[in-house]
Amino acid sequence: MRIAMIGTGYVGLVSGACFADFGHHVTCVDKDAAKIDGLNAGVMPIWEPGLEALVKANEDRGRLTFTTDLPSGVAGAEAVFIAVGTPARRGDGHADLTFVFEAVRELAKVIEPGTVVVTKSTVPVGTGDEIERILKEEGVTDASVASNPEFLREGAAIADFKHPDRIVVGAEDEHARDVLKEIYRPLFLNRAPILFTGRRTAELTKYAANAFLAVKISFINEVADLCEAVDADVQDVARGIGLDNRIGAKFLHAGPGYGGSCFPKDTLALLQTAEKAGVDQRIVRTTVQVNDDRKARMVDRVAAAIGEDFGGKRIGVLGLAFKPNTDDMREAPSIPLVKALIDRGAEVSAFDPVAREQAEKVFAGVEFSKDAYAAASGADALVIVTEWDEFRALDLDKIAASMRGKVLVDLRNVYDREEAEEAGLAYYGVGRGRLFRTAP
Ligand code: NAD
Repeated sequence: MRIAMIGTGYVGLVSGACFADFGHHVTCVDKDAAKIDGLNAGVMPIWEPGLEALVKANEDRGRLTFTTDLPSGVAGAEAVFIAVGTPARRGDGHADLTFVFEAVRELAKVIEPGTVVVTKSTVPVGTGDEIERILKEEGVTDASVASNPEFLREGAAIADFKHPDRIVVGAEDEHARDVLKEIYRPLFLNRAPILFTGRRTAELTKYAANAFLAVKISFINEVADLCEAVDADVQDVARGIGLDNRIGAKFLHAGPGYGGSCFPKDTLALLQTAEKAGVDQRIVRTTVQVNDDRKARMVDRVAAAIGEDFGGKRIGVLGLAFKPNTDDMREAPSIPLVKALIDRGAEVSAFDPVAREQAEKVFAGVEFSKDAYAAASGADALVIVTEWDEFRALDLDKIAASMRGKVLVDLRNVYDREEAEEAGLAYYGVGRGRLFRTAP
């Protein structure tokens, strides 16, 4: 099939490359000329495992092309996916649909009869109806509009796209359903569950999924606080409850709070949808508050370990991206933490395996180190913020020997207290017994 992807970011680029890999002919369109020039020169705009090889292989097969020219990009396409950004609108948190509607209006001028327009971007309930209205207003009466929300995770995006837990398709007509079924045929043959539903339901399903995951994270974070107060271990609590199939083990890792480009904005957008509908969503509202408070309070954990006065203190920070295997800094828990450390007078030496370039746009006054050991050298405390694999097997003896203070604040519970203490480090994990145990 011929597919056009409007928006070539994390979702558009990964989806486009995977669809091409399924055997379809895909053109990825983006209005960011630097991004498209880079892709045409073989430079990936994002860091995502396996992406470069997948893009190159499908370009070589002649199935994947990139352009800034929307009319030529969508010419002949049976389906046009919209994968542009839907950030939170400043002030109220409503999903900003400017990019979506801009793309639809541009598309309306050139769309061919029978094309299926599919929103892959995360969009509030009713956006498909609005797209249909805009298309009609622009004189297009024979296009189908469907919703196909994307559930891939950055850092594992290709694997998620090719082996999804499920595919959700919201469509109001048979033609749209048939076209999407054909596009996803290779996954269908692999027995990936495909849920066909109404367009509005599909739109809401994406928000409900992200909101539920955010709730799960905030829940275990609050249990972690309780563990610290009553001298219990959240790791074991999480395992003890996660082995229950009704609960499931995933997303039960206590830490510094969720970030990224999806959960923070999607929970806010769900609340906006609910408010507009006159239905309170107390659990999600509380989750947003719990998470915001938590991220703001991470600096207190460093203070609890080395004292309130950060003047003249040097803090090593490991991991800046919002999670491992991505360079995405959007809403990363490292941002409020590092900013607070600097505001309170600390020097920060930070290391992230891939996010440095993105982080440099966010932080002023941070010294970027060449590796984890350099970040720790001379530090009064070392804080693990993102659980990159390469931070899991650090030589703690070497780290401790190079530090001025001997304090490890492990916001991801990567290490055990015993191994840190054996290396001579005072250990401060999350939810692992009383927080302020005597240092060795
Ligand atoms: P992104 O910011 O990485 O990419 C969006 C791209 O769209 C940008 O390159 C931008 O230049 C381009 N764009 C904007 N307007 C355009 C237009 N009119 N024509 C052509 N290109 C245009 O965003 P993303 O992270 O890929 O997210 C896209 C959507 O997918 C969002 O709604 C997001 O919520 C959703 N989503 C994201 C993820 C994720 O992990 N990033 C996962 C699932 C769903």
